[in-house]
Amino acid sequence: MKNYSKTKIIATIGPSSWDAPVLKEMYSAGMDIARINASFADFAELERVSNTLRTTSPRIGIMLDTQGHKIRVTGLEHEIQIEGEISIPNTFDITYPDLYKDVSVGTRILLDDGNIQLVVKAIQDIEVICTVIQPGILKPNKTVNIPDVNLNFPAITEKDKADILFAVEHRFDFLSLSFVRNREDILTVRELIGDSNIKLIAKIENVQGVENFDEILAATDAIMIARGDLGIEIPFEKVPILQKQFIYKCRQAGKPVIVATQMLESMKESIQPTRAEISDVANAVISAETSTGRNPVVAVATMQKIAKEAESVLQQSPIYGHTSAPLEVDELCRNLCDISESMKLKGIVVISNTGQTVLSLSRHRPNAPIWEISSSLEQIRHDSLLNGVTGFFLKDLPQDRDECTQHAVEVVYAQGELDLNDKVAIISGSSIRHNTTDAILEIVQVKNVLSR
Ligand code: PEP
Repeated sequence: MKNYSKTKIIATIGPSSWDAPVLKEMYSAGMDIARINASFADFAELERVSNTLRTTSPRIGIMLDTQGHKIRVTGLEHEIQIEGEISIPNTFDITYPDLYKDVSVGTRILLDDGNIQLVVKAIQDIEVICTVIQPGILKPNKTVNIPDVNLNFPAITEKDKADILFAVEHRFDFLSLSFVRNREDILTVRELIGDSNIKLIAKIENVQGVENFDEILAATDAIMIARGDLGIEIPFEKVPILQKQFIYKCRQAGKPVIVATQMLESMKESIQPTRAEISDVANAVISAETSTGRNPVVAVATMQKIAKEAESVLQQSPIYGHTSAPLEVDELCRNLCDISESMKLKGIVVISNTGQTVLSLSRHRPNAPIWEISSSLEQIRHDSLLNGVTGFFLKDLPQDRDECTQHAVEVVYAQGELDLNDKVAIISGSSIRHNTTDAILEIVQVKNVLSR
């Protein structure tokens, strides 16, 4: 097996990278999950790309990123110079028709990721007249942010509804939800997806998302710190500290956290990252996404290289707080980090049922690798988001404990991860036959298990 980083890599794919040969190379360079932005792909394209991904490897998780309440410039056929004074909708229009109702004199309007800045000077009927504070060239379809105002969006847009149902129907693994404001936004999506097992990732990218972080974390399956919009919607100097705070809270809760955007931005054009980007990736070695651009394969490989180097000096960091796993599982997992160090265990084998044990374990970032054994490829894809977790598929998990643990160790051994004299921990429910969610811990020598 290839020696990939414990940090998982989510690659945002697009037209420059979503054909089979490039996806194959990205997978082999270390991409764990492919993210597709629903704003830029129609259903036919989504279907084609997801089929290609499944053929490339059934282990690659597929994530659909919803458009959410993203406002964009509309009605422009070509780029225009923005300077002096402009009028919305006369100079250009935006995809938020209620603008004139919600803004007041002095409201800031930021275009193209904040590169062009306006301030509302007057509102005349449905026309919003703005003074240009930071001029620039505006291209069609660019983004619009209005950070000072709580905009009046429905809980879920019609486009998002259709995209979410498509992702559920086509058995995507993750939905990343843009501009989540509160717990209700997550619950609305949960209601829409019904009993689907697709995992929800709340993107934190505006003031409300930051203010309501705790209730959002409790309702979601994972968090994405969407630093692009976040750095426009709140003062950008607050982003690095929030990033650290959010990561800590996610680890406490045993929920995966993704650090997104501009991690290797310069690699859109260059084959070398900037020194600041290398430092950013190393700092975020928790979970990350790659940039699209001309060098997607090199970008994934670069991220692997930086992550592995940072991980080589990282030590496990047991963390307190409880996850959704039973208390005994949380306690056992935390203590197991110490045991695995003092007994020099080669790895931790988890015979997985609900996936709660790997969530509880992974948050401590144990030095020993976590090998999850599951008879569900879907679960293996879901858990491919978790730090330090490698999934192994075992089609039929034997119901007898001895037989099951033997097969589990065999599967890891067969991949060349173990020697006969190595010791490993094995965690499973107290009854494998009855799929129990409590825990039994065994510490065993590989040769003893294999000769059972
Ligand atoms: C972001 O804003 O950082 C982000 C990840 O979202 P999107 O790519 O949809 O802009």
